[in-house]
Amino acid sequence: MSHPLIVIGAGLAGWTTIREFRKLDPDTAVTLITADSGDFYAKPTLSNAFAQQRGPSQLVTTPAARMAETLKVTLLAHTEVLAIDPAQNLVRTGQGELTYRDLVLATGAHAIRLSLAGDAAEQVLSVNSLDDFAAFHARLLAERAPEAAKARVLIMGAGLIGCEFANDLAGTGHPVQLVDPASAPIAALLPAQASAELKDALTGLGVQWHFGTTVTAVDQANAGDTASGAMHVTLANGQSLEADLVLSAIGLRANTTLPLAAGLQCERGVLVDACLRTSQPHIYALGDNAQYAGQDWDLATSAPLSGGRTLPYVMPIMNAAKALAATLTGTRTELVFPLMPVGIKTPALPIVVAPPAPGMAGEWHSTSPGIWQFRDPDDQVRGFVLTGTQTNQRMAQSKLVVL
Ligand SMILES: Cc1cc2nc3c(=O)[nH]c(=O)nc-3n(C[C@H](O)[C@H](O)[C@H](O)COP(=O)(O)OP(=O)(O)OC[C@H]3O[C@@H](n4cnc5c(N)ncnc54)[C@H](O)[C@@H]3O)c2cc1C
Repeated sequence: MSHPLIVIGAGLAGWTTIREFRKLDPDTAVTLITADSGDFYAKPTLSNAFAQQRGPSQLVTTPAARMAETLKVTLLAHTEVLAIDPAQNLVRTGQGELTYRDLVLATGAHAIRLSLAGDAAEQVLSVNSLDDFAAFHARLLAERAPEAAKARVLIMGAGLIGCEFANDLAGTGHPVQLVDPASAPIAALLPAQASAELKDALTGLGVQWHFGTTVTAVDQANAGDTASGAMHVTLANGQSLEADLVLSAIGLRANTTLPLAAGLQCERGVLVDACLRTSQPHIYALGDNAQYAGQDWDLATSAPLSGGRTLPYVMPIMNAAKALAATLTGTRTELVFPLMPVGIKTPALPIVVAPPAPGMAGEWHSTSPGIWQFRDPDDQVRGFVLTGTQTNQRMAQSKLVVL
């Protein structure tokens, strides 16, 4: 009997790869091993669930068992892969070993944790999975100062995810404070003027900002009193703030412990070539744990080299899963990313951003209210940002971008 295709990870990358694979190959055995339940949900909904009054269970769009049945998958849920042995095509779990024909790593990323002082530092939450969201949701309902209508939330990080949560929470009546070492929200992706517009829009919802500083300590407001849940948050600038809940949204780091231990080449993610092959035969990677090939590809040895990028967004996964399914079913397919604008879910000021490639020379130019283009030294459009009603210009602006 031939060995199955094994996929590790039941996030968007794992399930989408299997769905695309099944379109091309209805018969080959597929095993999905995942540390979580395997229930299918759209992770982007985690940062706008409150506005839609949806709790954790309502975010599951298809239960794991139904996914497995529909896609003819042997599902090993709540099962962590502990080791990979590329020499023998084996994966090891607590329940035993399995042999693969091909292996797909779709193990995602983990939230970066700051090392903080204080007796409540361990209570700082991050949201990068449905389980994380369930914990956050439960705490948000429980931690409420007696006199306050809604729990006060302090968010560390005014990047894309931090601002989306700020909008969702402030928009549903939670007092929200944002702390970030930068001087403006989503400063890494947006031109200064767009960033200022977003700041004004969220300020309009009551969001308070603390820029140019970081959180250094989180303590119980009343030592020994865990009942009220109130916390003192100390900032590097010496300021002290009060909150009922602290959410860390300072970024993600690809999960590379497992592949590194198996001898796979990793940098900011698992290095893959244009066909999503890792440095070991029969092992592929995509999604938040992958570092997609850059220009410096060694054609002579087909070895993945550094220089690529991680792309922790939905559209890269959809494109990568399609290409990988074709390769896994015998049609070697190189992944060529199209332009992939990202919609930022801040309804107070909707934003679409198509960022230029990292390190690209050029400048942002405002072409009309709500539209910015990133132009290189040859005046070619390499990216754009749209705000407010101009977000409906996504298609028109996309056509102008030179990839
Ligand atoms: C709050 C939030 C909002 C977002 N909004 C947007 C948006 O609006 N637009 C957009 O484009 N992107 C958005 N993103 C990013 C997007 O959701 C992610 O890029 C995508 O969901 C990642 O999917 P993944 O399958 O690679 O990883 P994950 O969803 O993290 O899945 C990883 C899987 O691997 C499993 N796993 C890990 N290690 C092991 C192991 N050793 N053994 C077994 N299983 C293991 C986990 O249990 C999990 O099932 C958002 C992200 C967040 C956190």
